[in-house]
Amino acid sequence: MEDHKKRFDIIIRKLKDHGHKLTPQRLAIVTILARSEGHPSVEDIFHQIKKKFPTMSLATVYRNIVLIKSLGEVLELGFPDGSNRYDGNNPTPHPHVICIKCKKIVDPDLDSLDEIQKEVASETNFTILNHRLDFFGICSDCMAEKV
Ligand code: ZN
Ligand code: MN
Repeated sequence: MEDHKKRFDIIIRKLKDHGHKLTPQRLAIVTILARSEGHPSVEDIFHQIKKKFPTMSLATVYRNIVLIKSLGEVLELGFPDGSNRYDGNNPTPHPHVICIKCKKIVDPDLDSLDEIQKEVASETNFTILNHRLDFFGICSDCMAEKV
């Protein structure tokens, strides 16, 4: 996991450089994205901020995430059911492990990813620009509950 304070500063600088205002609401959204604990959805972020900013709408949170995504500072994880999740702690493509029961998403630390990428490139003769690698399973918390 990246240092969330460092990520906060990087995202804020990017917003400033592109002439975007730093409203208290925007700062609160960036604070949550910089950490991206558990890879939150737009709704998760909205619920976390709602107490502090009761007048803020879900659409405002969504617009801010779209903006920060357009600056390349948040990774969007799309799912077929439309339940997108976000990682502003590490906006570069990386593998994820997803619990199919509680929907928790974690970042595995893989040594072999570079090798896989090289193998895919030499195998297909493609210049690889991006990748998407998801592992689905049941987390240890959910396994323990099963009994
Ligand atoms: Zn789980
Ligand atoms: Mn991640």
